[in-house]
Amino acid sequence: MKLESIELTNFRNIQSLQLEAAPGVNVIYGENAQGKTNLTEAIWLFTGAKSFRGAKDKELIRFGETCCKSKIHFCSELRKQTASIQLFSGEMASAKTKEVFLNELPLESSSELAGQFYAVVFSPAHLSLVREGPSFRRKFLDTAISQILPRYDHYLHEYQRILLQRNTLLKDLARFPQLIDTMEIWEEHLSKAAAAVVFCRARYVNRIRPKAAEVYEGISSGKEQFDLHYLCGIKQPEERPRDDIREFFLQEYRRTRSADIERGATLCGPHRDDLEFLVNGMPMKLYGSQGQQRSGVLALKMAECSMVEEVTSETPIVLLDDVMSELDAGRRDYLLNHLENRQVFVTCCDDESFRGLKEGKSFLIQAGHLMDIKAF
Ligand code: ATP
Ligand code: MG
Repeated sequence: MKLESIELTNFRNIQSLQLEAAPGVNVIYGENAQGKTNLTEAIWLFTGAKSFRGAKDKELIRFGETCCKSKIHFCSELRKQTASIQLFSGEMASAKTKEVFLNELPLESSSELAGQFYAVVFSPAHLSLVREGPSFRRKFLDTAISQILPRYDHYLHEYQRILLQRNTLLKDLARFPQLIDTMEIWEEHLSKAAAAVVFCRARYVNRIRPKAAEVYEGISSGKEQFDLHYLCGIKQPEERPRDDIREFFLQEYRRTRSADIERGATLCGPHRDDLEFLVNGMPMKLYGSQGQQRSGVLALKMAECSMVEEVTSETPIVLLDDVMSELDAGRRDYLLNHLENRQVFVTCCDDESFRGLKEGKSFLIQAGHLMDIKAF
């Protein structure tokens, strides 16, 4: 997959910009607050996912404007395609807040772009994956799996829907004790939905583990070992058939029922899962240095990239926002030299560390404008 060009109008601080990308490395450099991450974010939105900065659509429209537009030309499976996203602030007469087109045909929503345009992003916000609570790691798993297995989204929604029903029932029991008779049936549904989610997550983690470990080993020049542990309450879930997992949860829901009634919430299930990062066998969150944590997240992202390649035969575009800081020269070199065949967009303050690269382009961005373009 290659992004050939992107055009932006009134996207955040970018009033008007047109960029013709190189098929290899694209370095976007400039001082702080000039629009480098904004440009990366604009590219990312074509994956159909939400902003990696957690931004709402209307925050993407340039201050004082009522709409913004982004359009890309890209190439996938050797076919040339175009996609565009237009956002409206809602102040204009039309009630629409978003219009999305793929090859000039309208789509119902931007999530339909998933499976058309593949990218993997690393931004400083992703360090929360190691540093913050488990919800960030569950979100990573869910987004990554959805990219390669669209029906996973359905499993997840189904689980969340039934979980909500059981939680409502747990709370209602205080006023309507006779409702306890319906509990068994909800638990059966819930354990089936939980098993579908856990089954996919366990197999996904099992496949990215060796890939992430290999990348990490390279980044650290073989000095450190990296591993991932999927924590879902079951031992070796990747080896269990889905029915076994369903049975496990059914028993768990029955076992924890009275505690759940007391708390008015379901205590076990995939909404409590976690993904542990280990460096040299120790939890990275507690013992990892800044550079190790950054390397761990990068290794995970590169493993995600390889998974997309394996499953879809498309090479995702790699977006590396502010990745170089906190990495020593050895780690940086490894990263830059192991991105072959992948189109990369990397942001940084200056393009010095990239001058040794054989081919690519660099773009200087100032106040949302492209000021200088160099090919190397
Ligand atoms: P850094 O090197 O610090 O990461 P950056 O070049 O990546 O900087 P961006 O995050 O891309 O910076 O851009 C930040 C700039 O964009 C800020 O000046 C911010 O005020 C501006 N900005 C963000 N949203 C909007 C918007 N909706 N309209 C106009 N400007 C915006
Ligand atoms: Mg930035």
